[in-house]
Amino acid sequence: MTNPALEVRDLSVAYSSQGRLLPVLEDISFSVAPGEALAVVGESGCGKSTLAASILGVLPGNASILKGAITIGGLDTTRAGFEAMRAIRGTRIAMVSQEAGGALNPSMRIGRQVMEAVVAARKVGRAEAEAAALDLLTRVALQNPAAVMRRYPHQLSGGQQQRVLIAMALAGNPSVLVLDEPTTGLDATVEAEVIDLIAHLRREYAAAIVFISHNLPLVSRVCERIAILYAGRLIEIGATAAVTAKPAHPYSAALLSCLPSPQHHKILNPVAPILGEVPPPDNRPAGCIYAPRCPLRTDNCTAKQPELLAVGEDHSSRCLYPDRVDAAEAQNPIASQVPAIADEHVLEVEHLVKRYGDLTVCDDISLTIRRGETFGLVGESGSGKSTLARCIAGLITPESGVIRLNGRPLAGQTRQRELGEIRALQMVFQSPEATLNPSFSIRQTLGRAIKKLSRRGQEKSEVGTLAKDVRFPEGLLDRRPRQLSGGQKQRVAIARAFAGKPELVLCDEPVSALDTSVQAGILYLLTRLQVEDRVSYLFISHDLGVVRYLADRVGVMYLGQLVETGPTHQIFAGPRHPYTDALLKASEREIGGSPRKGASIDQVEPSASACRFAARCPHATTRCTTEAPPWRIGEDGHQIRCHLDLETLRSVA
Ligand code: SF4
Ligand code: SF4
Repeated sequence: MTNPALEVRDLSVAYSSQGRLLPVLEDISFSVAPGEALAVVGESGCGKSTLAASILGVLPGNASILKGAITIGGLDTTRAGFEAMRAIRGTRIAMVSQEAGGALNPSMRIGRQVMEAVVAARKVGRAEAEAAALDLLTRVALQNPAAVMRRYPHQLSGGQQQRVLIAMALAGNPSVLVLDEPTTGLDATVEAEVIDLIAHLRREYAAAIVFISHNLPLVSRVCERIAILYAGRLIEIGATAAVTAKPAHPYSAALLSCLPSPQHHKILNPVAPILGEVPPPDNRPAGCIYAPRCPLRTDNCTAKQPELLAVGEDHSSRCLYPDRVDAAEAQNPIASQVPAIADEHVLEVEHLVKRYGDLTVCDDISLTIRRGETFGLVGESGSGKSTLARCIAGLITPESGVIRLNGRPLAGQTRQRELGEIRALQMVFQSPEATLNPSFSIRQTLGRAIKKLSRRGQEKSEVGTLAKDVRFPEGLLDRRPRQLSGGQKQRVAIARAFAGKPELVLCDEPVSALDTSVQAGILYLLTRLQVEDRVSYLFISHDLGVVRYLADRVGVMYLGQLVETGPTHQIFAGPRHPYTDALLKASEREIGGSPRKGASIDQVEPSASACRFAARCPHATTRCTTEAPPWRIGEDGHQIRCHLDLETLRSVA
């Protein structure tokens, strides 16, 4: 057997806080062979980032390694000094972090940043570094790498920035590459491209990869082994096929089943959130750490911590009852029947146009949403989805077009709208942090929302009711936003939107920044509130799986235009617009083959007399570049904007 490129043995790490040592990682052991990819999966608070920082030797000052060893190419990095670590960082080990934008220097051109990484790793001169930087940017499949060299980070998309970071990490040809949530927050198409690229580079560079993520189904597409981390302990490890086909720990099974799939139904067979929270380091239970959340626990589970024992070849679990684990934990239905959607429009948008300078961000958008309906809006970043929602919310004013709520035209700006209209039309954003006042307690925030949107004098009793409605723990009402988890903050944001009993809630990527387990809880909550209150949603997401699960109808936007709209089941069954088809395939595709090129950095507004998707469409003809495509009308209001007829579109999907 070849020597591992990375070996972590009995690693325990603690943080000191207020005179106490809080254990964050306990007895972690695994190894990764050259060219092998190991996924490390778990929710926020499980110790994934601490593990990455330990491997990189960049733990914060209040952290200490209590015991264990991390060996990279024969060097125990837990005992190596500062200089020794500096010498191997970038050459033997490198990292790609989640926030590509934050990791790049905003005031330095990309070329110089990549060249600096090359010089640091290879100790070469300027000319050689420049050639190497160009070569690296080419290898990460960036279109027009010479032009990318001249750009600043803000002139690149998130996916392009992530490719640049990967290029910099590869500058020293490292034997170990740590990827810390490298695709979180990226569009499905870009995510698929980055995952493809990682799979390709792995073969080319033969680096050992540690891929840290909260998304188990995603990493199982690219890694051959998986390690599941829970509350600082390794609770299952094994070959991907074994762990995903027959998980041997209830936590792994829960992580696998909390992402929506076509087998789920949002009301009759909803995705199962993992109830409860990861216990903090200062309050970890005795015995099995998963026991408080585990549906299989018995009295034996709390008596003693289970050991990590083999359950098969290259497959171990820290559960007393691995044979009882069911991969598909069923969730109670939200209602016994699916409520009918009224044939009454809550929202009508007609011919809405919004421009920023010369760029038309929303181009002649028309759509309707019925009472009790969820309308899913999908498309890549820059497609105009959020701009459309902000126009509807009155946060920005469109150049032209009409927005009607319950048949009455709405004023362009929120402050010109009546209180009843504001109450009826609310918005939930991707980052609740940005909209929750950090100096207010949650009780104050909800009280103010009720005061503004509801009857006066009711806030004391209603804050409790509102918190209960969104399953926000009453004991946390006096906390500030920074003391809450991401999922808890999003529950507060949803509670605030529901303070005035809204009729339509605009949800702009409300689950994109959340762990998959927390996401399942928010999707469940939104559906339950809809069933109870007959509220309608405009649900914006780049995640087609989530939209397929939640939406009754879907609109697909591309470069400011709606290119397809119709009932969700029709769109997924086909025929589909070629762009929708590309989005769907990106979210479903298996990994392999050559990496696909990222989108061009030189995005120009297409001519009005052409199909906007022509430059990327595999079926484009000359006509597509000279003539705007017509709407093709299918069944049940399904419409596709394309020159191809429905039969042809069905055959090419
Ligand atoms: S040991 Fe018991 S509590 Fe822990 S995961 Fe297994 S069944 Fe659940
Ligand atoms: S009109 Fe032409 S370019 Fe546009 S989506 Fe249809 S086939 Fe593709």
